[in-house]
Amino acid sequence: MKYIDEFRDGELAQKIAAGIRADVQPGRQYHFMEFCGGHTHAISRYGVSDLLPENIRMIHGPGCPVCVLPIGRVDQAIRLVREAGVILCTYGDCLRVPASGGLSLMKAKAGVGNSGGDVRMVYSTADAVALAQKHPDRQVVFFAIGFETTTPPTAVAIRQAAALGLKNFSVLCCHVLTPAAMIGILESPEVRAGQSVPLDGFVGPAHVSTIIGSRPYEFCADDYKKPVVIAGFEPLDVMQAIRMLVRQVNDARAEVENEFSRAVSRDGNLKAQQLVRDVFTLRDSFEWRGLGVLPDSALRIREQFAEFDAEKRFSVDYVPVPDHKACECAAILRGVKRPQDCKIFATACTPENPVGSCMVSSEGACAAHYTYGRYKDV
Ligand code: SF4
Repeated sequence: MKYIDEFRDGELAQKIAAGIRADVQPGRQYHFMEFCGGHTHAISRYGVSDLLPENIRMIHGPGCPVCVLPIGRVDQAIRLVREAGVILCTYGDCLRVPASGGLSLMKAKAGVGNSGGDVRMVYSTADAVALAQKHPDRQVVFFAIGFETTTPPTAVAIRQAAALGLKNFSVLCCHVLTPAAMIGILESPEVRAGQSVPLDGFVGPAHVSTIIGSRPYEFCADDYKKPVVIAGFEPLDVMQAIRMLVRQVNDARAEVENEFSRAVSRDGNLKAQQLVRDVFTLRDSFEWRGLGVLPDSALRIREQFAEFDAEKRFSVDYVPVPDHKACECAAILRGVKRPQDCKIFATACTPENPVGSCMVSSEGACAAHYTYGRYKDV
């Protein structure tokens, strides 16, 4: 299949791997963070790490939408179901993110610890709007999560609900912003000190970059002197990006380069960006799992569309909640620890019974390592 098979070709992978081995300088260590869970998944699934020389270390980043969702936001959604009696709909992975008291949206639906709630999985924001049209006597809330890739469809849904004059549709908006998370990583004490997380550059997001373009990462190169290479989610994309990063480090360059030029431009999708600007504005701050409270790092719904803002329509304030004591998700999302450093990895915490958010989605570092790499550790 075009753009799939050619980017998974084993012989080509070996050639790029040989190129990387030829390019790395002996005695030098290279530490690259793949920001996106999609890259983490590709690296684990296709064994990319096994093709890399010993002196390249890949660090998993925080770019997995459900991984960075803090417990308090899932609690907020559950309160909407249980206290406000709404139909709450969201994407599949979100249903399994652990909340307080051993709950999740899935368990709330099943009635664990209480009567059952009306929680539904949707495949698109169009499904959420259709649900509201189908149940005019019920309030329908779409729990909107994710980075810049999933934000435009939420904007479309809100505009559509406004055009239809729907009075029973609203959005719990938890959309977050990639560049702010990268600043959070670069400003973290572990990276600034350069000891626990030495960081030489980023494999930059694929899908997010199709929307925002490559320009928003230029601060990494200009202000922090860290190279960024935007890469697609296929294994050869990732390997080529790693080679480009190695060459930048060798040349003492810090630039934003674009390996994923078949889909990403410098300016991105201007129409989608305008749509997002029309409907959303910046929150002053937002709590991320692992990264803490980051300024200007998430979106809220503009006053013009306030009637579609679930946080305004219902009284469900956000209450921060600490992670499970045994869970190392926060450290993993900052690149400080690896999944196998967590004492309950693959024992109490598995994809079937996730204790932390990094075990929920296939893009989560713990789930990817559990599925493709855990036997390497034994
Ligand atoms: S194994 Fe589970 S509990 Fe441990 S860090 Fe990963 S998701 Fe969190």
